[in-house]
Amino acid sequence: MKAVQYRRVGAAPEVVTVPEPEPGPGEVLLKVTAAGVCHSDIAVMSWPAEQLPFPLPLTLGHEGAGTVAAVGDGVKGLEIGESVAVYGPWGCGTCHLCAQGKENYCLRAEALGIRPPGLGAPGAIAEYLLVDDPRHLVPLGDLDPVRNVPLTDAGLTPYHAIKGALPKLTPGGAAVVIGSGGLGHVGVQLLRALSAVRVIAVDVSEEKLELARTVGAHETVLSDAAAPARIRELTGGLGAQAVFDFVGVPPTVAMATAVAGVEADVAIVGIGGGVAQVQFGVTAYDAAVRAPYWGSRAELMEVLDLARTGAVDVHVETYTIDEAPKAYERLHAGEIDGRAVIVPSA
Ligand code: NAD
Ligand code: ZN
Ligand code: ZN
Repeated sequence: MKAVQYRRVGAAPEVVTVPEPEPGPGEVLLKVTAAGVCHSDIAVMSWPAEQLPFPLPLTLGHEGAGTVAAVGDGVKGLEIGESVAVYGPWGCGTCHLCAQGKENYCLRAEALGIRPPGLGAPGAIAEYLLVDDPRHLVPLGDLDPVRNVPLTDAGLTPYHAIKGALPKLTPGGAAVVIGSGGLGHVGVQLLRALSAVRVIAVDVSEEKLELARTVGAHETVLSDAAAPARIRELTGGLGAQAVFDFVGVPPTVAMATAVAGVEADVAIVGIGGGVAQVQFGVTAYDAAVRAPYWGSRAELMEVLDLARTGAVDVHVETYTIDEAPKAYERLHAGEIDGRAVIVPSA
């Protein structure tokens, strides 16, 4: 089968032919219907060999959807041909956090060598994907896999970050979304669906700000040195109740803490290496900073249910498997409008 692999440190992803996997006991084989392209892959592909936590080659793609093609011994409750989305942050399934469905925070995954598909295990940008356990599948039903596969990460990650801030997002308040790309443009929609706050989107690109307005941002601000003052002004001098940084580079992390209001929640989601400074008398009183990762199994179900209400419309650009390297190039260059999705059958 065709697969898109990261094969050598620093090299561009390549389309290769690999053996079609077969499901062992307890495993599920999916025929991939759609796979999203995330900026985290670009970060991973920029890491030096000693930082890479898994061996190469690696089939990329940690946002996956497919139809059940075959099941291994002992797998029950799935029908061949059923359309499913893949919950990506695989855990052990039995530790205290996994027991709560928070496999993204599994206490034993690292020790047991359990890695997400596309981030250690063979990923979804291929014709077939092996899933280690049926609990990592959520039925898609009538949801279009191509339009909704980004919800498994570009939806789930902001959803999890926003859910943690919801008690602060009271009417009359404001939330700032930094970076209106794959995650950010979904984040804006989730904020609109889950709260009554004013949503202020920030990006370096005028096109991305246009996308933010299209999906529901009340205000948009160009990301430059003047942005924090502009955001303060838009919040009546008070700052925002929550800030979601979907970039995470030093200037955006500095902006995130600078525009946080009293008791605000600041979530650094982007993995751009920025370090948040919290200082008495400088940071707003009682503002809290956290760095969340992906989301829980229950939250993926909630995001998909929210999509069923029509509240979330992911903007997607579609590519064939052969075009996947081009999708990565365009993502790297900041040229994707919303999320790039690889459609193997196209
Ligand atoms: P993306 O490339 O689709 O979007 C990034 C957006 O940020 C673009 O619109 C870009 O124009 C904008 N941007 C770049 N520099 C900026 C700046 N200085 N100020 C404001 N905006 C700026 O990327 P994505 O796939 O949405 O991923 C976003 C980030 O989140 C990445 O760092 C990714 O690795 C990370 N991520 C983290 C998690 C997690 O669980 N913590 C999960 C998924 C992705
Ligand atoms: Zn991702
Ligand atoms: Zn666990």
